[in-house]
Amino acid sequence: MASTRAHAETRSTRPKSLEDAVQFVRGVGPSRAEVLRRVGIENVDDLLTYFPRTYYDRRQLATVASLQPGIEGTFAARVLSATQRSPFRRRGNLLVAAVGDDTGIVQVVWFNQPYLAKHIQPGREILISGRLSYFRGQRQITNPEFELVGDEPADGGRIVPVYRLTSGLSQRYLRGVIAHALESYRDAIAENLPAKLVAESHLPSRAEALAAMHFPDDDAMRARALERMKLEELFYMQLVLSVVRRHQSERASRPRLKVSFDLERRYLESLPFALTRAQARTLSEIHADLGSDRGMNRLLQGDVGSGKTVVAGAALLAAVEAGYQAAFMAPTEILAIQHFRNLVPAFERLGVRTSLLVGSLKPADKKRVHEELKSGAIQVVVGTHALIQSEVVFKKLALVVIDEQHRFGVRQRAALLKDDPHILVMTATPIPRTLALTAYADLDLSVIDEMPPGRAPIKTRIVPPEKREAMFAYIKDKQASGEQSYLLYPVIEETEKQDVEAAESAFAELSSGLLKGVPLAMLHGRMSMAEKDEVMNAFHAGVVRVLIATTVVEVGVHVPQATIMAIHHAERFGLSQLHQLRGRVGRGGRDGFCFLLVGDSASADALERLEAIVREADGFKIAEEDLRLRGPGEFLGTRQHGVPGFRVSNPLRDRELVEKASQAVKSLLTSDPRMDSPDGRRCKAHLRAVWSDDVAAASMSM
Ligand code: ADP
Ligand code: MG
Repeated sequence: MASTRAHAETRSTRPKSLEDAVQFVRGVGPSRAEVLRRVGIENVDDLLTYFPRTYYDRRQLATVASLQPGIEGTFAARVLSATQRSPFRRRGNLLVAAVGDDTGIVQVVWFNQPYLAKHIQPGREILISGRLSYFRGQRQITNPEFELVGDEPADGGRIVPVYRLTSGLSQRYLRGVIAHALESYRDAIAENLPAKLVAESHLPSRAEALAAMHFPDDDAMRARALERMKLEELFYMQLVLSVVRRHQSERASRPRLKVSFDLERRYLESLPFALTRAQARTLSEIHADLGSDRGMNRLLQGDVGSGKTVVAGAALLAAVEAGYQAAFMAPTEILAIQHFRNLVPAFERLGVRTSLLVGSLKPADKKRVHEELKSGAIQVVVGTHALIQSEVVFKKLALVVIDEQHRFGVRQRAALLKDDPHILVMTATPIPRTLALTAYADLDLSVIDEMPPGRAPIKTRIVPPEKREAMFAYIKDKQASGEQSYLLYPVIEETEKQDVEAAESAFAELSSGLLKGVPLAMLHGRMSMAEKDEVMNAFHAGVVRVLIATTVVEVGVHVPQATIMAIHHAERFGLSQLHQLRGRVGRGGRDGFCFLLVGDSASADALERLEAIVREADGFKIAEEDLRLRGPGEFLGTRQHGVPGFRVSNPLRDRELVEKASQAVKSLLTSDPRMDSPDGRRCKAHLRAVWSDDVAAASMSM
């Protein structure tokens, strides 16, 4: 996250800066600041680059009568009636409203958004943006965007930004705050691209572009602003990668590991299987890196179940044997714990001191681990991103293995610059080459393109609402013979509370209904570590047969007897994520099944998308399709605010801009390697404001 060095006491004397905490903006108090922080907005720059998800064109409002099927339209209407229903027994929730203007009446339906009921009430004026369709012969609009028309005049007559929200934020509030910020910080918005690049590209200045991204006068203005912000994004991604890479090669402080791989050999011999050829090849690439001058910056791709963990284990031991410490970082606590459990028996037998470090450890335990990392007593530490917090100090860190790279971006990798370890990033989601060249240009690539012998593809089926009962009967039947199932519920972006409620109500419903008598348990992100641990243990042991979970089980969980993965609202997941999820089952020799339950509101497009995963077993092909459908921002998880990279640009489409940005980075760093020129200094200032101190420091030490 961008650092914020602003202090309230300097308010009056200090010139305005986009690094100012967002509280400096009129209308943002401490509690709103907290809400804004949840969507990644900490300082003014974050706020100004919180770009709209879409826009409503309210220069011409439609009327109810003029709505055309399939075409997006915005119209003002009055709510005539609104009813909440739970149509399909306890599953789901439906809000049905009739709205009308002078020209007619239309039915509007929202699925699974029960909190809307307090807003959509008879008599209210409302602006609706959506697509008309026909449902059982009736004109209907499903899940439209809407906005209540309050006392203030509505934002009629112009193009209006629409932002991603979270609870406690409204469109109207964000529009107001961003408009204030644009006005009061206008003079503080410095150009951050090389002057020549902006001039030659005939693009708007940063100040103009930021304003037009939020409040464009017309489509042409919006398009130019977008192009400028894309160029900026691509320029900085590549600049950061170049800076990091150069820093690494210049410092060359990485230990060249001298290893005979004796620990590794003993570790591999203790396993009940031999490495596949692909695993062995990957491992020898890693060996070569560890002993080279340049060190290791490697991305290891391998489909779910291809056996990446063993390779990671061997690499960790190489660092230990050479007399250093090694860290293994996972994206969630559950995964960290699982890796820890997986490695500990073999590692302890080899006399390697291994510990766990996750955020929810008791403070005393955490302190002890911190101390022992500092003293060097701990040789291997397994944990979450708690490992790269600044208070964690290693005695001699030589290697960091990062599992499931998805959630670790360039910024997180940059945080590792302090210790400058060898880096191995592992992912089950193959990054297509074009994207890899932009986002991971600092990493070499190894691919495990072969599965361990005897793996059958997971049989995958779409389960429509009417087949749901049959599916549960099947699950109940299977568990009687010792097979276990996951029932998965998606994370709903708006509120975490609802996800938990969805899982909780399913738990209540199933335990007294379709899965009566089956040992069930629940797992979600709000549980304490001890609770999660207890549930996972019971599931591992087979005491619990069916696990009802939110997406905390998403990646890497390994329970061999689990054979069924039933995913609710499958249409809300990305294809690669679904492929990851189904990879959790059928890992113990028995056939695995994946059931994709779709809601009644799933569109034809969504179903077609799901068909792709029913047909295709190859994770690489699925990833390509996923990337094509969702774009790189969603695909890499950088779409969230606060994570730099591909929020507006798409290197697969914006090839010319990628090229232009890369030329500009090269020419800057060639003509001004220390970044001391006016252009260079500007870029450095931006790196510090938006990326991190580590990146800025790296750029200065070049
Ligand atoms: P992933 O690549 O998804 O992280 P894991 O490392 O979790 O895969 O491995 C999946 C399973 O395959 C584990 O049970 C692991 O012990 C097993 N495995 C790994 N390598 C081999 C191999 N060469 N032969 C047989 N089984 C293997
Ligand atoms: Mg794994």
